[in-house]
Amino acid sequence: MTDTVYTLPDLPYDPGALEPHISARIMALHHDKHHAAYVKGANTALDKLSDIREKGDFSTIAMLEKNLAFHVSGHVLHSLFWTNLSPDGGGVPEGPLADVLDETFGGFPAFRQQMTEAAATIQGSGWALASWEPVAGRLVVQQVHDHQGNHGQGTVPLLAIDAWEHAYYLQYENRKTEFFDAVWNVVNWVDVARRLAEARGTATA
Ligand code: MN
Repeated sequence: MTDTVYTLPDLPYDPGALEPHISARIMALHHDKHHAAYVKGANTALDKLSDIREKGDFSTIAMLEKNLAFHVSGHVLHSLFWTNLSPDGGGVPEGPLADVLDETFGGFPAFRQQMTEAAATIQGSGWALASWEPVAGRLVVQQVHDHQGNHGQGTVPLLAIDAWEHAYYLQYENRKTEFFDAVWNVVNWVDVARRLAEARGTATA
C-alpha cells in the first residue's frame, strides 16, 4: 500500500483560464497526468524506502533515493509553477520585487532575458528558476536539469518556468521560445513578490 504523504493540489484556475497563452489541453494533461505522476512517484519512493528499512535490505537504496529526489522535486516545482501563473498575470513586476530585479540584474528586461535563455538552452528536460539564495541574500537564476539537477542547495525557488517538452509541445511544437514568451504574459507577479518577501523574512507591506 502506498502512503499518501503527498497529494495533488488543485489548479488555482480552470485549465482553459490561461488561453491563448497556454492551451486548456496542455494544462489539463500537465496537471492531471504529469504532475499527478510525480505525486504518485514520491509516495511510492517513500513507501519502498519504508519496505527496505523494515526488511533490513538496503540493496536498492541508491535507486530509491534518486527516485525520491526526482519525484518530490517534480511535485514541488509543479505546485510552484501553477501558482506562479494567473489569468490576471503578466505586465511587469512592481514594488520591492522590481527594486530587487533592478539591483541584481539591471532591470526586469535583463532578468526576463536571462530566465528565458536559461529555459531555452537546457539540454534535455529542465526548468529555469528565479531563486532566493540565502547565504549572499540575493536572487539568482538557475538552470535546473530534470527537476533537481544543477540546483543550488538551500536556495528558495520563487518563480519557475517549466521547460520540459510536455509543457508546450502540443501547442508550440518545436517553437519553444514562443512558449516562454507566452509564459511572461501570465506570470503572477503578486505571487512572486509574496514569495520573495517570505524568503527574505520581511513583511509584504
Ligand atoms: Mn512539467
